[in-house]
Amino acid sequence: MIRLLALLPDDIARHLRRLQGRDGQGVAALQNGACGGCFEHLPAAVTAEVERRRTVVRCGGCGRFVI
Ligand SMILES: [Zn+2]
Repeated sequence: MIRLLALLPDDIARHLRRLQGRDGQGVAALQNGACGGCFEHLPAAVTAEVERRRTVVRCGGCGRFVI
């Protein structure tokens, strides 16, 4: 986790730490096109980007970063 934070831009890393401080769940895995945290379905264009590791997106439902 520390390693991942080091790779992220500062603003995202800061946001991530804030989320973790609140509920310990700043990141959710992508599961069948949906957020692994709240299971809200994400647009196909977004999940494709995530699967290619080209972007980090925030879930509109719970605010977690979906990776
Ligand atoms: Zn979510």
